[in-house]
Amino acid sequence: MEQDRRTFIQTVAKSGIAISLATGSAPFVITTRAAEPEKKLGFALVGLGSLSTNQIAPGLQKTKYCRLAGIVSGTPEKRQKWKAQYNIPEQNIYTYETFDKIKDNPDIDVVYVVLPNAMHGEYTVRAAQAGKHVLSEKPMEVSVKKCQEMIDACKKANRLLAVGYRCQFVPFHLEMMRIGREKVFGPVKAIEASFGFKIGDPTQWRLKKALAGGGALMDVGIYALQGTRYTSGEEPAEITAFETKSDPVKFKEVDETINWHIKFPSGVMANCTTSYNFNGLNRLFAGYETGWAQLDPAYSYGGLEGKTGKGAMDFPQVDHFATEMDDFAQCIMQNKKSKVPGEEGLRDIRLLSAIYESIHSGKTIKLK
Ligand code: NDP
Repeated sequence: MEQDRRTFIQTVAKSGIAISLATGSAPFVITTRAAEPEKKLGFALVGLGSLSTNQIAPGLQKTKYCRLAGIVSGTPEKRQKWKAQYNIPEQNIYTYETFDKIKDNPDIDVVYVVLPNAMHGEYTVRAAQAGKHVLSEKPMEVSVKKCQEMIDACKKANRLLAVGYRCQFVPFHLEMMRIGREKVFGPVKAIEASFGFKIGDPTQWRLKKALAGGGALMDVGIYALQGTRYTSGEEPAEITAFETKSDPVKFKEVDETINWHIKFPSGVMANCTTSYNFNGLNRLFAGYETGWAQLDPAYSYGGLEGKTGKGAMDFPQVDHFATEMDDFAQCIMQNKKSKVPGEEGLRDIRLLSAIYESIHSGKTIKLK
């Protein structure tokens, strides 16, 4: 899987811009080092897979307000390797069985859940019960019910909950939001959003419904869905979706390729595609009354490119994970809600459920 994602993201990054997932070092990442804050919040990563290893841990080293304080892993070799590599004290290292003891560890402020999708709920609830703030990777969970349980647990424990929607902290995406909000080219008229890649290893959890909840749509289609929502600034009113499966053996349990159409209350339309069976889908386009704007590649970890009818967007490439974690740390320090709270993750899961419902019923789903 690690190889899949690496190949995928390298393929989609245009202009030969190298993204080194192996070392986690993105050569084009701009880091600014202001004065060090007095206290950095201690983050514990739960699940030391590809994302934790190649993006989050290296990203943590570039943050201003966070530090890698602990790890939770079911794999003894990983625990040893990370302990040595990141100088993690033995008392901050947990297994899934000993995880709840984290409540007695004041060195850990935030638990970052980086497990297969259907495990986010359990570890978020357990982390909240242990008195920790929680950052959960996307998709937030695999059902609306699970998302609600996560929100409720964090609320009950008076802890903050955020979802790992890294794109919402990236200048290119912020610009798409601004162009829509300020009506730079007049009102938005139509949106096209797509994200997909050719998945490898047929035995991985991403192809198992019990752990993934769904296929390409849950994993990467969610970025396209998010894109339509923050580019239009509206919530979908109607969704119609279609699915095709060219490999029903590999994709026996989860979706392979889905196309969906959204109608927003103002009449803005969005066309979206996601797939686990081909590369090249990585775009967010908006047509406005007097112009257009586009990101392509839009959702890679780096090397994003933006254009409008008036020329290229000129923004720095930032480390998506460092920016996202610093934002969450600041929310905790200032006791303010994240702009990507649990409610935002739940909204998407509700919409993804509507997409599946439309496929299965053959009908347009009207949303309240
Ligand atoms: P990986 O398969 O690479 O890693 C998942 C890790 O979870 C494993 O290495 C393992 O860690 C742990 N784990 C515990 N139980 C299981 C189980 N039953 N099956 C498999 N793994 C298990 O996945 P990723 O790191 O790619 O993805 C993790 C999460 O992050 C997903 O929710 C995914 O959607 C999200 N993600 C988000 C991205 C983003 O850009 N925001 C990009 C990629 C992923 P250990 O051995 O330490 O116990």
